[in-house]
Amino acid sequence: MKQKIQDKFASLYGEGGVLYASAGRINLIGEHTDYNGGYVFPGAIDKGIMAKLKVNGTSKVRAYSLDYNEEVEFGLNEEDAPSQSWARYIFGVCRETAKRGGKVEGFDTVFAGDVPLGAGLSSSAALESCFAFAINDIFSNDFNLFELAKIGQSTEHNYCGVKCGIMDQFASCFGKQGCLIRLNCKTLEYKYFPFDPEAHGYKLVLIDSCVKHELASSAYNKRRESCERAARAIAKLHPEVEYLSDAKRVWLEEVRTQISEEDFLRAEYVIGEVQRVLDVCDALERNDYETAGEMMYQTHFGMSRLYEVSCEELDFLNRIARKCDVSGSRVMGGGFGGCTINLVKKELYDNFISVARARFTEQFGHEPKVYDVVISDGARRAE
Ligand code: ADP
Ligand code: MG
Repeated sequence: MKQKIQDKFASLYGEGGVLYASAGRINLIGEHTDYNGGYVFPGAIDKGIMAKLKVNGTSKVRAYSLDYNEEVEFGLNEEDAPSQSWARYIFGVCRETAKRGGKVEGFDTVFAGDVPLGAGLSSSAALESCFAFAINDIFSNDFNLFELAKIGQSTEHNYCGVKCGIMDQFASCFGKQGCLIRLNCKTLEYKYFPFDPEAHGYKLVLIDSCVKHELASSAYNKRRESCERAARAIAKLHPEVEYLSDAKRVWLEEVRTQISEEDFLRAEYVIGEVQRVLDVCDALERNDYETAGEMMYQTHFGMSRLYEVSCEELDFLNRIARKCDVSGSRVMGGGFGGCTINLVKKELYDNFISVARARFTEQFGHEPKVYDVVISDGARRAE
């Protein structure tokens, strides 16, 4: 990828330029906790975006996407964002940088990536954080990694129509090889924890069901409302509860008769999930990957039966993982499709993948995709 970028850059824009890279991300555990003020536990992966940039002395950006084989030119002062979706991310990052008082002038860039699009690995965050980091560096702005993550998030909000939280851009900017990052979504405090499955005899692998059920956005809003109702009911007795994640399990029990059975189950999942993130962090500090894996199964159970955001394909993959003695497996992301994330002992890996592939294909008529991931560095200079 690097060589292709170098060659294309030389042929289009000549000598010079600096290489930057950023990463997609996984989230080991902590799902549907972000909007409840709880923890997430993501890390950057060894799949990302790489870009070469060079200041060109004009007020225009010339960008070439190697993966789309397409060049786009836009002025930094133009009102309208480019129509090509990939270019809107770059345009958005430029605008959001300028909005915060950063310097942005014209530059030339060639970039490429290897994060599968729309698979739940956040290729868009990889793209945003690569350019946010690169622009910050070449124009000697002084934004910290948090501000760079927010530039990416605002790009999604204001230029791409995606009202996302901060996790993806956060992980993509802050990621470190061999570490996951526990982020408190309420206070934005974060802490690195060691996570190096390879060194302990495990692999981390995603199995993409390649389905996306169209329930996702309406169900998402309903889940949020359930959580808010449960939190309000608890807050009447415990005013310190601002978000559901502030509540203890026994407090939920106290309001059991005041909320619907459905809201109760949703809240039970969220409160359990916040605790599971803490438990996984403790386990990893002891290099106890088996306990971490077991928590992943509990999360899957919760997402499937209590929060009800799984689907047939994902439950199927989860059951196969159990049967193949995979240490941990769960649906990753919002649900209703996408990937399972699996922590598997190296010696069981080949069997698991071949069984999962064959059985899934037999059952659903199409092959799942398999992505090995290694926890890696986030946004950086790549030379
Ligand atoms: P994801 O879940 O992977 O973030 P999104 O739909 O949010 O999926 O983002 C995918 C979009 O990001 C693509 O449609 C494209 O515009 C942009 N993108 C991601 N990777 C690349 C790449 N390698 N080259 C060009 N654009 C990319
Ligand atoms: Mg995205």
